[in-house]
Amino acid sequence: MTAYTVTCIIRSNMPIRVLDPRVVAQIAAGEVVERPASVVKELVENSLDAGATQISVEVRGGGVSFIRVMDNGFGISAPEVELAFQRHATSKISSTQDLESIATLGFRGEALPSIAAVARMEMVTRAAAEPAGTSILLEDGVVVKKEPGGCPQGTAVTVRDLFRRVPARLKFLKSGSTESSRIADVVSRYSLARPEVRFTLAMDGRVSLRTTGSGNLIDSVIEVYGIEVAQNMLEVGGRDDKWESKSDSGVRVSGLAGSPKVSRSNRDGLTFFVNRRWVSSRMLAWAVEEAYQGFLTEGKHPVAVINIFLPPQETDVNIHPAKTEIKFRNEHAVFGAVQKAVRQALTRLTPVPRIEEVATRFAPAAPVTKPRGTPSPEEIMSLFESKPATTPRQALPLLRVLGQMAGSYIVAEGPDGLYLIDQHAAHERILFDKLRAQRAAQRLEVQGLLEPVTLEVEPRQDVVLKSHFADLSRYGFDLEPFGSRTYLVRAVPALLYDGDWQAMLRETLDSLSGGDWQGKMAISMACHGAVRAGKVLSDTEMRELIEQLSQSELPHTCPHGRPTLIHLSSGQLEREFRRT
Ligand code: ADP
Ligand code: MG
Repeated sequence: MTAYTVTCIIRSNMPIRVLDPRVVAQIAAGEVVERPASVVKELVENSLDAGATQISVEVRGGGVSFIRVMDNGFGISAPEVELAFQRHATSKISSTQDLESIATLGFRGEALPSIAAVARMEMVTRAAAEPAGTSILLEDGVVVKKEPGGCPQGTAVTVRDLFRRVPARLKFLKSGSTESSRIADVVSRYSLARPEVRFTLAMDGRVSLRTTGSGNLIDSVIEVYGIEVAQNMLEVGGRDDKWESKSDSGVRVSGLAGSPKVSRSNRDGLTFFVNRRWVSSRMLAWAVEEAYQGFLTEGKHPVAVINIFLPPQETDVNIHPAKTEIKFRNEHAVFGAVQKAVRQALTRLTPVPRIEEVATRFAPAAPVTKPRGTPSPEEIMSLFESKPATTPRQALPLLRVLGQMAGSYIVAEGPDGLYLIDQHAAHERILFDKLRAQRAAQRLEVQGLLEPVTLEVEPRQDVVLKSHFADLSRYGFDLEPFGSRTYLVRAVPALLYDGDWQAMLRETLDSLSGGDWQGKMAISMACHGAVRAGKVLSDTEMRELIEQLSQSELPHTCPHGRPTLIHLSSGQLEREFRRT
């Protein structure tokens, strides 16, 4: 065995003393300004806090030689300009109480002095009410020039020779192109956070990003990720308030999530905004990835832009000077809300309406009141109220089965073109309708098990099970308490007899909350009872499935709201083949 000796040299001849303010400033600056992209981030945040509707970012040499951020925000009044460069000078908070509910991106009053400490910095600004603006120049944190100057309302900050006096930092920077791409990333993320702001990014003289400021997230996605990704984005939460996923804990989730067609090999496609602040959070990434489980193959990661809104008191952003980390008071609730909202978007598979001019799209044959979307709890409840459907019937045309594709889709010919039927979704619809009818008639088909089966549930599930005991029995589950968290199951709903009713039961117990349990239960039962994708069907089975589907009042959607069939009309085919 080799022995190692570690020699520790202690410079005991150095007395303790308070550091020079310049050194302090540089140490502190290091935490805020890690690299050129951090400068861009801080300046863009300031512009957004100033209410800007137009922000232009220009960089050269990876941001080391030149960064300029210009905005049309409310500017800084002449007497306050110098103050803005003092450490801990801010107009955004004034007390520790304000820290509880931060509504702005900045609040620490550190960015301007930090940047000024490590570069040559110039600011030209004019407040709305003032006739003339102010121009100020700082070098290594010291004001070297200040004079009145005319400029349009707003602020332009120019940063030159970043880290010129901090060689240690300079050494750690990557190549100019890597730093440029980090800057592009920052501007891209903020343009996704604020679709209502017009962003322009020019790098080494070339415009690399320009957003419209239309206010529509999808427009920013088009600019950042391109049309192909944008076409495959699904709405999370939705514009309609009704669909905006709002949990009991006041967490609201909206945004766009990429369909499984667009995925990445890393997590860079995930963007999170909490109260419109760009944050990085493993927990949030995990919540989204959980939602994609079963939709993406291993090693693939989704593209998603997720906005989370919650009362500011529920969060703490004052963790790190860069303010990109966040803590949630109720992490569990946030996780759940995000996961659920994304999952719903995926199961709904609703393309964003504006750009759905793709050739194949689900088109209902007859006018319908609500062709898509997950049925609302009220809607589900009303279905169960046993009155005959009031919604106009969406007739299915007569279809001739041509064959089966990928063991999952039935290919059929109709009077106007080709139809692809998702066998699982179609069967779900059929079973859901059946359950509805049986439930209305109060005679649910029950199948006794040959031998009782014991079912053990988790503590949380047990609570739900106990409170819905009678309801479950009305749905055909014959359960008998059998010790702690264990039940003897003697009979199950007939349609689940061959299916995985245990999984169905657990899933339902996990998802049951609030008043719409009947709907959830029926949906879950239909889902678990339905024929799986991948199962080869005989011609007779396929014909029967279509026959049964055509008897449904809502044959075009499964109970989750996903389409059961896709129609490619003869006209579309002719267009695609350029016959017209
Ligand atoms: P913070 O953003 O945390 O307040 P900063 O050092 O980034 O701290 O900015 C200090 C102050 O300067 C801000 O509080 C704000 O009043 C003012 N300021 C900075 N940038 C701008 C801008 N682009 N437009 C208007 N005011 C600005
Ligand atoms: Mg700031």
